[in-house]
Amino acid sequence: MGERRPLRAEIIAIGSELLTPYRVDTNSLWLTEQLNELGIVVRMKAIIGDDLETLVEHIRHALGRADVLIATGGLGPTEDDLTREAFAQALERPLYRDEDLLEQLRRRFQRYGLSMTPNNARQADVISGAHVLDNSVGSAPGLFIEEGTKLVFLLPGPPREMKPMFERHVRPRLAARSSGDRIVRRTLRVAGITESALDDRIAPVYTQYENPATTIISSLAGLEIHLTARARTTEEAERMLDELAVKLEERLGEHLVSRYGESVERVVGKQLTERRLTLAVAESCTGGLIAKRVTDIPGSSHYFVGGIVAYSNEAKVELLGVAEALIRRAGAVSPGVAEAMARGVRERLHADIGIGVTGIAGPSGGTPEKPVGLVYVGLDWKGDIRHKRFHIPGDRERVRELTTLLALDWVRRELLKGV
Ligand code: ATP
Repeated sequence: MGERRPLRAEIIAIGSELLTPYRVDTNSLWLTEQLNELGIVVRMKAIIGDDLETLVEHIRHALGRADVLIATGGLGPTEDDLTREAFAQALERPLYRDEDLLEQLRRRFQRYGLSMTPNNARQADVISGAHVLDNSVGSAPGLFIEEGTKLVFLLPGPPREMKPMFERHVRPRLAARSSGDRIVRRTLRVAGITESALDDRIAPVYTQYENPATTIISSLAGLEIHLTARARTTEEAERMLDELAVKLEERLGEHLVSRYGESVERVVGKQLTERRLTLAVAESCTGGLIAKRVTDIPGSSHYFVGGIVAYSNEAKVELLGVAEALIRRAGAVSPGVAEAMARGVRERLHADIGIGVTGIAGPSGGTPEKPVGLVYVGLDWKGDIRHKRFHIPGDRERVRELTTLLALDWVRRELLKGV
């Protein structure tokens, strides 16, 4: 029996622009997903600017550790594109100008009616012993180098060039080499429970499993439970995920929004479609965010009638028929106004279900009785009108995002009841 240690990969994102606050290295996220699916673990990744010395030093160390090294970026024609030079130095191999490649580049420029400047010729520089990986989308070719048992891939930076090159040139080579396990992930989406309460509820189950591994991730879209299984085959990993997921789902009850990571707006959309019901929303503090989320889903016109953003008191009165006296007596952020907004929008837009949302998103406008983050959601279900009160800690964005989530999640729970 041979050793079954998974291959270890490292990723290097090259380019000074990736060290500014304006650009994010997304290539390594995508690459990690692909590598994991092939049973290859990513042990380290780095983002390095266009500096030859730093690059050479890092590449030397990485070659000492990794079985697979993938670099993206810095293969362009300009002086600051140093990837080829850096790998040539680190691997102690010469660079030569490949005449065939030069000719191909020339023809490519001609085809697009462009003249080739001398620095473009740099893209025909090849590290001795490397295979050239052609780039069907852009001009920068990639390189593949075998250094002993180690595999090194140099790919261009733009994702739309890098991804097809990975599929064509990298995946088949790695699949042939990797005897490692398959890694399969699954996400359960949860809402209406705090992170600590969620962990309390499911920890007794997931701590019994080392594989699949469980992580809880909190974001503005709610809570996600990420499960990662490792097995000889994808089918076996899926089976292991099923076994744990079923146990977790039992513990989650109606807090479970979806088994495969679908958003709450997508789930609500499916429920409304199945039940042939329609929805309308009246929004104050969320300023249209609920309507935006609902209409993010293609096909939402089948169940979403429309939304009204009623920000001022006058708008609530004029557009939704909320009683002026009620606003004066209870305030715009009150249970009665949330209910009246829900009813107003449902009746005026002739929907089955109406939601009304009013709250204090902050940072100003809070009082001791009505603090920032206080939100009332009203729900009118064919004339049956109710409200819920929430207190959402956090900044303006968080209050608006979580209000949207909680309002839609309430509709989801009601639809689950099947009444
Ligand atoms: P080309 O010459 O075809 O542009 P290149 O290899 O020289 O290829 P770079 O100049 O390094 O590519 O990067 C070009 C652009 O690609 C960057 O401005 C950035 O928008 C995108 N890019 C580069 N690296 C990454 C990365 N790691 N993640 C996401 N985008 C990236």
